Amino acid sequence: SEKLLKIKPAKVDSTDMNAYSNVMDRLRSTFSSGKTKDIKFRKKQLEAMLKMYEENRDEICSVLDADLRRPKQEAIVFEIDVMTNEILHLLAHMDEWSTPTKPTKGLANLFDEVLVYKEPYGVVLVIGAWNYPIQLSLVPMAAAIAAGNCVVLKPSEVSSHSEKFLIEKIPKYLDNDCYQVIAGGAEETTELLRNQFDYIFYTGSGRVGQIVYTAATKYMTPVTLELGGKSPCYVDDSVDIGRSVRRILWGKNSNAGQTCISPDYILCTKEVEKKLVEEFKAVIKEWYGDDVQKSPDYARIATDGHFKRLTTFLTNGTIAAGGKYDPVDRFIEPTLLIDLNPSDPALQEEIFGPIMPIVTVNDVHDAIDYINARDKPLSMYIFTNNTKDKSLMIASTSAGAICVNDTVQHFASNIPFGGVGPSGMGKYHGKNSFDTFTHEKGCLEKSINFFVEKLGDARYPPYSDWKESY
Ligand code: NAD
Repeated sequence: SEKLLKIKPAKVDSTDMNAYSNVMDRLRSTFSSGKTKDIKFRKKQLEAMLKMYEENRDEICSVLDADLRRPKQEAIVFEIDVMTNEILHLLAHMDEWSTPTKPTKGLANLFDEVLVYKEPYGVVLVIGAWNYPIQLSLVPMAAAIAAGNCVVLKPSEVSSHSEKFLIEKIPKYLDNDCYQVIAGGAEETTELLRNQFDYIFYTGSGRVGQIVYTAATKYMTPVTLELGGKSPCYVDDSVDIGRSVRRILWGKNSNAGQTCISPDYILCTKEVEKKLVEEFKAVIKEWYGDDVQKSPDYARIATDGHFKRLTTFLTNGTIAAGGKYDPVDRFIEPTLLIDLNPSDPALQEEIFGPIMPIVTVNDVHDAIDYINARDKPLSMYIFTNNTKDKSLMIASTSAGAICVNDTVQHFASNIPFGGVGPSGMGKYHGKNSFDTFTHEKGCLEKSINFFVEKLGDARYPPYSDWKESY
């Protein structure tokens, strides 16, 4: 009944009022009412989200075009399809995932009931990034809804057309007492973070990730931090170079390289480098024609600041292919950089653009040493047909996730997605998303039958040698 669903509201310091106190009060009060605990209600909200996607397909493509000049096919594959599949997966499994589970019992609990209840955290905050501005906001939001939470969503202000889309559409499709979109950038997020959330899910740079993490400690709020870093791509001479270059360039050039898991740099031998350079040029011509800037299938850099940062990478090393850029429409040609020094910015900072440095190594052991001498990456790519080397790389390095003989595709599988060390903490996608927004509440219900009581007597004082050995 409704009465049984009522939950005690989280304790709030009423002297700590801020610009979002009213929003927080409204959402806390809704959560306390138990409205979002009803699984039918959660499903209705997810179905409404699907409807929002269906009815606004063209508008989603056009806001992404306005923000990033994202080609329509990339908008569909990376934003609409990823999101739709994630919601369908949640809808198909949320009954099962929200049902209490019975873990295997030890001898001591043979006659007891052991259960793990699945409980939503409460009011959660989702902070999105600009590079996939809709999907990176709504995939975690959908999971939070499926798990029964109220949600405050703060999309990135940088992709302003997508931000406006979310601010306008979410209240039209979803329940306004449970879900709230907040606009703004650093200032607004700082103010928002003064509030006590029950969970924070952040996607973006490590620099801001640290700010979010620090703010969360005030209330000991659990967090997921989906960060970035330099994702290496090892290529050896056992692979089909043509196929490998296509798979690498698709991951590198989609969204003009502004993808957290885009292959950041290539590790290969000098001989493989020569083949890669030639194939790289041929594939770029095949995909985008003689003038990449005129191709409708290639995105642009999101802001002038990012454009400037990226073009400075081109001042070191040798440009082996590409290299053209135009500040007027923030265009940067797919570019291969070789002969870099390890201290050059392109080998120090996350690239987050269509520039691909190549680092030459002597062999797989050298590649492993190079990777292990740096921060643990968000993703690692291994292009090899050599089973021994593949196993060696997987066993000897650490990364958020690994994709063998392709790039980026692991994002759309249901394997755990997230970083390790400086590339992030926590994971989502598939069941991991549901679990992220769910507190697993263990419950032991002790048997009270006579036999168990007699056995249990041994724990009570007065203690004795025989009780100790029992
Ligand atoms: P960002 O850190 O600049 O911004 C992310 C969010 O934080 C935005 O909503 C923004 O408004 C907010 N923000 C910005 N400054 C803030 C401040 N001072 N205080 C509080 N909040 C603040 O990140 P970005 O530039 O949008 O994204 C780029 C980075 O994110 C890259 O490193 C990329 O690899 C990473 N990324 C990771 C993933 C992932 O899934 N792991 C996905 C996309 C991007």
